[in-house]
Amino acid sequence: MMRYNPTAMYVPGKQLIIADTLSKHPQATVTQEISELTNEIEAYEKAIHESWPISPTKLDMVKQQTLQDAELQMVQNYVMSGWPKYAAKVPNKVKDYYTSRQHLTVSKGLVLYGDRIVVPRMMRSEMLQRIHDGHQGIVKCRERARCSVWWPGVSKHIQDAVSTCKDCQESKPIQKREPLITTPLPSCPWKRVAADICELNKQNLLVVVDYFSRYIEIAYLNDMSGETTRAKLKNIFARWGCPNELVTDNGPQFSGRAFVQFSKEYDFRHITSSPHYPQANGEAERAVQTAKRILKQTDPFLALLVYRPTPLQATGVSPAQIMLGRQIRTTVPTLEANLQPGWPDLHK
Ligand SMILES: [Zn+2]
Repeated sequence: MMRYNPTAMYVPGKQLIIADTLSKHPQATVTQEISELTNEIEAYEKAIHESWPISPTKLDMVKQQTLQDAELQMVQNYVMSGWPKYAAKVPNKVKDYYTSRQHLTVSKGLVLYGDRIVVPRMMRSEMLQRIHDGHQGIVKCRERARCSVWWPGVSKHIQDAVSTCKDCQESKPIQKREPLITTPLPSCPWKRVAADICELNKQNLLVVVDYFSRYIEIAYLNDMSGETTRAKLKNIFARWGCPNELVTDNGPQFSGRAFVQFSKEYDFRHITSSPHYPQANGEAERAVQTAKRILKQTDPFLALLVYRPTPLQATGVSPAQIMLGRQIRTTVPTLEANLQPGWPDLHK
């Protein structure tokens, strides 16, 4: 069957006279002819496997599909040999690319739009799905695409896909412009962080957010003891360093002599929001909202993975870029150049 392109069709059992008969009377021995055919199939299969990388990454697949995409091949030719002077001379197939022609280049088997990969038609619906992973709403999905991929009408396609999504609608509050930071911005990442505890699906979670980058850390708490909370905080501090200031509410996990001792040992100032100024911990509460939205999803880790490299509207750069000095690789293919370390202008 491998050389054919079969179509599957449902046929009720009672109409399957021949097939049913054959299935009830299998041949006892394999004839010469069949074993020859089996050999041939195996050889064919082997050849296919050898010509294909063991586990092609999405980027490899984009290259493969670009080769097979007549439209992109035509675009590639125009990029290499020059576009016609007038749009009227461009074949309909690639008309959509004409207005963007000054952004299009070709590199290593890929068509690029600036530093974004032009996705072949066959892979666009899959890419849309991947961009949509994490359910961050239209604006952030577009931001994600802007970091990696492009095709004519991508913005509209994202809108169409996301506007009907229930999960994205539910997360609408965070789609609004992030509120202006009311507290003065710290002078560097991980200088002032906020921590809060929340409950979701009967599980307790510690959420820690950096005021500067909005990088979020989430840790599951096995119990609500101060000891467990401190252990998780230590774990996070081991990863990112001791902050200068830790902002929390007055919860029992953050109170008591043990916490004071912890703050001395790890050399941070512990700031608690007073009942008169609950908004002092507003940053943490906002982060908790974001964290809850992330944790509610089928794959919370994927959602967190998607949150971190998505640029924030307020800064135009992602939490990962500010914390790590590089974008992290996600499920949406991107050029290696976009993953190279490079600090954003922190002063800006
Ligand atoms: Zn969604």
